Amino acid sequence: MIVDKMQVQAEKEIVLNIAEEAVIESEDRAKSEVSEEEDVHFHDVKLLLQEGVHEDDVKRLKNAGINTVKGVLMTIRKNILALGIDETKLSHIYEVCAKIDMNNIFITAAEVAELRNKIFKLSTGSKRLDQLLGGGIEAMSITEVFGEFGSGKSQLAHTLCVTTQMPGPNSYLGGKVIFVDTEHTFRPDRIRMIADRFNLNQATVLDNILYARAYNSEHQWELLNHIGEKLHEDPGLYKLLIIDSIMALFRVDFSGLGEITDRQKKLGQMMSRLQKMSEEFNIAVFITNQISSDIRINDMDRATYKPIGGNILAHASTNRIFFQKGQGPLRKAMVFSSTDLEESEEEFIITAGGVDDAYS
Ligand code: ATP
Ligand code: MG
Repeated sequence: MIVDKMQVQAEKEIVLNIAEEAVIESEDRAKSEVSEEEDVHFHDVKLLLQEGVHEDDVKRLKNAGINTVKGVLMTIRKNILALGIDETKLSHIYEVCAKIDMNNIFITAAEVAELRNKIFKLSTGSKRLDQLLGGGIEAMSITEVFGEFGSGKSQLAHTLCVTTQMPGPNSYLGGKVIFVDTEHTFRPDRIRMIADRFNLNQATVLDNILYARAYNSEHQWELLNHIGEKLHEDPGLYKLLIIDSIMALFRVDFSGLGEITDRQKKLGQMMSRLQKMSEEFNIAVFITNQISSDIRINDMDRATYKPIGGNILAHASTNRIFFQKGQGPLRKAMVFSSTDLEESEEEFIITAGGVDDAYS
């Protein structure tokens, strides 16, 4: 019995060391030379100084949360002019940025394929759910999960907080997580339990999650600026950004009928920002969403649930997954719309250790 316990403890320590090493290694990599892959993503706007761009203009870009060359190239002319940088200087800035970020103009489809091979995928904790998602929650895109209360959206968010820290396929070494909580439902105790399932040290796992509570939709936007800075300061260290949930505060702040247009405009800006951040910093963005109370019955006599947020959200999310409650811990996940996933479904369960397979 004692021997068993010692063996379990020893095994726990081995797994823990692997996870810790993975995070440390990615920290070290980030702090030393940028790797070939990161090279594409992390050209600091300070580089523009060497190309004759004035210090004040570089400061203006940074103050607006534009920290990288890719960030400049992703921002439209109008928005940079609004920072007080004039037309001539802006043309020069774009020119210099395009020179630094060679991938900006054309690359071959083979190069696209090579770049896509490097995109990591994060495990949901369920192999079947990972399969449904084409390998897991994908970097450089936005994955949206929507469903009724208790369907497991936040549980998946908590599980991802842990699995993101573990090494995975395609030389993925693990990394840190940023969690934006708009509904006050983040529970460190759940993280502890999920860490136990994977034999990881609870304290280490908690330390690797950067948490922010958003109080209103403007604050949610403000937080994105801080997150942008954080991602820029520690390139390659963070791998996942979670917003649980994307719409809750927008719903409260824009509750009047006449406010929907304004809400959608602001929501569109936020989604566009998230998409850019996912590409600029090579991170996965995971958002949760509620369903509309307007439930329709379709031809098959089955209720059709609609995510809220309208077309703006529909177009911005790369993969939209619908979660449905089943008996006890059983849940069903369905691909609702996706750029490249088949529209199929899969079952999973919610356990004390987070999202898991319903059966092997
Ligand atoms: P909402 O729309 O209200 O935010 P949600 O989809 O985020 O809902 P979750 O919080 O992810 O819902 O799921 C809650 C469900 O997770 C609970 O009803 C319960 O079934 C399950 N759950 C929560 N904690 C545990 C646990 N410790 N062990 C097993 N199952 C749990
Ligand atoms: Mg929730």
